[in-house]
Amino acid sequence: MRVLKFGGSSVATPDRIQHIGQILAKRLQQGEQLAVVLSAFGGSTDALLDMAAKAAAGNKDYEKPLADFKTRHLTATRELLSGHDLLPDTLQTLHQYNQDLTDLLHGVFLVGELSPRTSDYVVSFGERSCNMIVAAYLQSIGLPAQYLDARQIVATDKQFTKARVNFDVTNRQTAEYFAQRPGTLQVITGFIGSARGGLTTTLGRGGSDYTAAIIGAALNAEAIEIWTDVNGVLTADPRKVRKAFSIPTMTYAEAMEMSHFGAKVIYPPTIQPALRKRIPLYIKNTFEPEHPGTFISDAPSQNARAVQGISSISQVALLTMQGPALFGVPGTAAAMLTSLAQAGVNIILITQGSSEHSISFAVQPSDAKIAEKALLKAFEQQFKEGMFSPLKVETELSIVAIIGENMRHMPGIAGRLFQALGNNGINCVAIAQGSSELNVSVVIERHDETKALNALHQAFFLSDTHELNLFMVGVGLVGKALLKQIHEQAAFLKDEQQIEVKIAGLSNSRRMLFDADGIDINNWKNLLGEASTAADMDAFVHQMVDLNLPNAVFIDCTSSADVAKHYAPILEESIAISTPNKLAASGPLVDYKQLKAISVKRGVPFGFETNVGAGLPVLTTLSDLRQSGDRILSIEGVLSGTLSYIFNSFDGSKPFSAVVKEAQQLGLTEPDPRDDLNGADVSRKLLILARESGLQAEATDIVLEPFIPADCMDAASVDEFFDKLKSHDVHFARLLHEALSRHEKLRVVASLRHGVARIGLESVPPSHPFYTLDGSDNMIVFTSQRYHKRPLVVRGPGAGDEVTAAGIFAEVLRIGNQLFD
Ligand code: ADP
Ligand code: ASP
Ligand code: MG
Repeated sequence: MRVLKFGGSSVATPDRIQHIGQILAKRLQQGEQLAVVLSAFGGSTDALLDMAAKAAAGNKDYEKPLADFKTRHLTATRELLSGHDLLPDTLQTLHQYNQDLTDLLHGVFLVGELSPRTSDYVVSFGERSCNMIVAAYLQSIGLPAQYLDARQIVATDKQFTKARVNFDVTNRQTAEYFAQRPGTLQVITGFIGSARGGLTTTLGRGGSDYTAAIIGAALNAEAIEIWTDVNGVLTADPRKVRKAFSIPTMTYAEAMEMSHFGAKVIYPPTIQPALRKRIPLYIKNTFEPEHPGTFISDAPSQNARAVQGISSISQVALLTMQGPALFGVPGTAAAMLTSLAQAGVNIILITQGSSEHSISFAVQPSDAKIAEKALLKAFEQQFKEGMFSPLKVETELSIVAIIGENMRHMPGIAGRLFQALGNNGINCVAIAQGSSELNVSVVIERHDETKALNALHQAFFLSDTHELNLFMVGVGLVGKALLKQIHEQAAFLKDEQQIEVKIAGLSNSRRMLFDADGIDINNWKNLLGEASTAADMDAFVHQMVDLNLPNAVFIDCTSSADVAKHYAPILEESIAISTPNKLAASGPLVDYKQLKAISVKRGVPFGFETNVGAGLPVLTTLSDLRQSGDRILSIEGVLSGTLSYIFNSFDGSKPFSAVVKEAQQLGLTEPDPRDDLNGADVSRKLLILARESGLQAEATDIVLEPFIPADCMDAASVDEFFDKLKSHDVHFARLLHEALSRHEKLRVVASLRHGVARIGLESVPPSHPFYTLDGSDNMIVFTSQRYHKRPLVVRGPGAGDEVTAAGIFAEVLRIGNQLFD
């Protein structure tokens, strides 16, 4: 004998029921002996509770869900038994149920009260109607089905809504009932039972699973099969962790732990009867019957992972008792537990600090007030005497737990757990590990729950693949180039590096768009164009924080001060940053230091490598040198492609003003070349280099020696600027001549020497790396204790959308690797 239970979604519609008919017919044909337990039609228990509550509140609105309930069952019956002899009788029985339910609810409406006892009777109509109809349908397709109202066999106490089973009576009644009906297919109502006096009781929400196990155990079944709408017990709740996958085998203990910790797929008490009789449990999917699902037995699986699953309880309250009363006083904790037990409070988790200074209890929020009262009363005297600090009650918390038998004696599991939570900025409010080492539980803020589950799932099950969630603002030239590069590289990163890069948020100056599953990067332009949300940085940050995705990186491809001022709150939320926007790192020193400090405090990277030399590895090189213990003696840089081009081309063959004009015509300068020649941009870069070298520098500390005469810079228009510049051609020719006569060349050099940051026109000898510079290349020369005789040189294009985007991309991947660790 095998007992098969089908859940609400498996009997939600007539075609689902027909599908069950096929499964059963096939199995019976193969000679199997079966019993079937069914829940109510999917959603109908909730509907019954809803109508009962409305009726009790004197609200006539209960009539609408009641009418829907009746229609749903009548329609299903007509469809399933269409044209069959059984239809009239079945409809008649159903009409009788419907009438009884109508009368019952009318009574509830009149008295304006719903006792737990009445509530149980009301909800029993869900299971009874469903099973009665399905039994008739199975008969109609030729199966030896018989309807069995579980109240005839499942005996319980009178704890309505969560009655306890009397196994002696139940086992006897069940065995007798079945013995008298050999060869039949009993179709049994899940969830309900009866207490002495014929009162209807229920076994708790989700209790049909339990019914199946109770009957399976009573009949010494060879297996109990729970058929639901997912492929067995999954590594995590699939509604919260998209990448959850099914666990092939589990032990009873693991399954029990998973279900106790919120895995709704099995109702927790279900495991007990099965375990007692060592009856294996299968969790199967009606929507995919061929899938093996999950097999639960007492055999430890040889190749099971250390952590089998991750679960969570979404709403808990934490009560913390602390104070000297706890210190070294035996029995205090026991007294607390006793007081809570006497108040009927179920404790989900207990933790005590090793200092014995505090002890915390996690309870259901509905128990929090009761628990608080019980503790305050039990320790009234100690509270008065100050032996306990005021009782702390925290709500809006969740518990996440990792579960697995093989965690036992396996070091490093907790480390990985806390690392994953820490990397994602999730604060642990309390921690508990059962002595069985079957479960490590962490109490966290409720709004972090989904993120925590995903981060842990990633760490324990997908450690070979990683997900990077990018939030990008600015889709100008650099932003566009970056999106293109990410798109082109995505498949390689996934296949070769096991990194899945997703754009979870995108904004231009007009609109913004979010998708936790990743915006289709092939089509971002249209999607963003059609997005209905207006761009707004505050709202962008809000959304990004609300999505709470793991391994999140914010990328600022704008040059906006408004965006940069959001960096601090973003880092505070443990979201990493990569930015080519120089405004933050070259703004006031306090702001730069604050961002650095938050980055350290939160352990979240703040990257701005592309601020200096675009894609060239300038800041990373500087940081590597410093971290490896080298001492920087000087840094010299040609940090502007435009200035580099102008002075590299100024060889005497053309007047200086003509060289500048040519650069302008080639598009190498800003429309007004003075925006390059004023040295402001180089100044920002040098300031960042100075700060990254350890100098506490402000913008005003940069010594900017003007190399273009003041009257040119002050000219009213660009044309006038060129006119004025012409009048200085002689001056530049003389400078060049002097340099050449010493076999030197002119370069605009940003330097950091002896703690002084300076920008000015210098003439460099042939031995200096700048001497060979040509085109518009940037060059940064690090002279250090190690690189003394021959300095370390970084050279290459220091501007351009493609190279800047590539620099950001590389930085984002580096950040990713830091976050994945
Ligand atoms: P039924 O109506 O068949 O009893 P339930 O809705 O009670 O089904 O339970 C199945 C649901 O449990 C799944 O659809 C899934 O959303 C949820 N669930 C939560 N955690 C898990 C888990 N770890 N594995 C599988 N399903 C889970
Ligand atoms: N129908 C009941 C409920 O919704 C029992 C079950 O589905 O297992 O809770
Ligand atoms: Mg269920």
